[in-house]
Amino acid sequence: MKFIAQRLKYFDSSDFREVFDQKTKLPHPIDLSVGEPEESTTDYIKEAGIHAIRENKTKYTPANGIPELRAAIAKKLREENSLATASEENVTVVPGLTTGQLLIYMAILDPGDEILVMDPYYPPYNYLASSIGARVTLIPVLPDFQPNLLLIEAAITSRTKAIVINSPNNPTGAVYSEVTLHKIAQIAEKHNLLVISDEIYEHFVYEGKHFSIGSIYPNTLTLNGFSKEFAMTGWRIGYIAGPQEIINAINELQQYMVFASSSIAQYAALAALTKRPDTNGRYAKKRDLVKESLKKMGYDIHGMHGAFYSFFKAPGDLTDTDFVEKLAEHNLILVPGRAFSQLRGFVRLSYGAPQDLLTEGLRVLSEVTAELRKKD
Ligand code: PLP
Repeated sequence: MKFIAQRLKYFDSSDFREVFDQKTKLPHPIDLSVGEPEESTTDYIKEAGIHAIRENKTKYTPANGIPELRAAIAKKLREENSLATASEENVTVVPGLTTGQLLIYMAILDPGDEILVMDPYYPPYNYLASSIGARVTLIPVLPDFQPNLLLIEAAITSRTKAIVINSPNNPTGAVYSEVTLHKIAQIAEKHNLLVISDEIYEHFVYEGKHFSIGSIYPNTLTLNGFSKEFAMTGWRIGYIAGPQEIINAINELQQYMVFASSSIAQYAALAALTKRPDTNGRYAKKRDLVKESLKKMGYDIHGMHGAFYSFFKAPGDLTDTDFVEKLAEHNLILVPGRAFSQLRGFVRLSYGAPQDLLTEGLRVLSEVTAELRKKD
């Protein structure tokens, strides 16, 4: 079609569309496909949003966000993530990390430049970079979903600019250890690379401890946001902290691409940060239930140390889409793994869902699995 740009060929949302279609066809689907926490945004945060509206804090803000919010984020990064140099200036507020990812790529990548992305990945890492002419080298993380340092180093070329990492990980739930992150930092330093570290699930860790690579490697962009920790997916507020020059470049782009993130959402986010309840590991029980149940069903489980996902292989030689379709016939919705990976035959289950839905979903999964294994 004449009017559609070539870059669209790099985007493929067919798997998510399929999942959405399946959901709309079912009256009461058991939906374990959604990458969201089950909770609603807490009242004190909602009140701050309402208050901002009442006080007419509804105008454009600076492109990089209101100074109070940037200062609060910088304080959090210094105190909780040991990013000693985080400041109001080298933090920028973005309308969600997904847009943030595009802003970063536009700021650092020229056509032909390369980035390394671990496979499985959060899909925008890959599609957004390809769509602006960069080359994405996917690094497989089988069998245990941990980054393979030899493969990372072997994939670096003279055009490589950045390594993208995401721990805790969507879709595998892998958490990278401090030792692994030190080794990644060493590789990045040796080859003068930027590290782009998406830490949006930092408060969902069940085994091990979250560690921010930015605390040991200054050439790091640390990405985080309010969507998951504060159950604010619809408010669209995230942030990026890192080297001043790159943040300045992102701000320049924000001025023309975003103009400003929502003022109301920024005031709500500011309120969110004033209370720091220790919610880490709040899904530990659900994680244990899912992990144990999947193991009992005979699935080979790796990762699942953090975030709220399990990424596992369908029984036998079944393709991911066939498995997902079969489960949908029984009212259960999962996402085909090809949405997140070049690997074939995997599916993603989200346990961000409420406990009753999860229990019901696991019962269906167990029945369908047993039936499929009988046929094997
Ligand atoms: N990064 C990862 C790894 C995610 O899984 C998600 C959402 O699922 C996001 C970023 C999206 O963040 P935001 O809501 O700030 O766009």
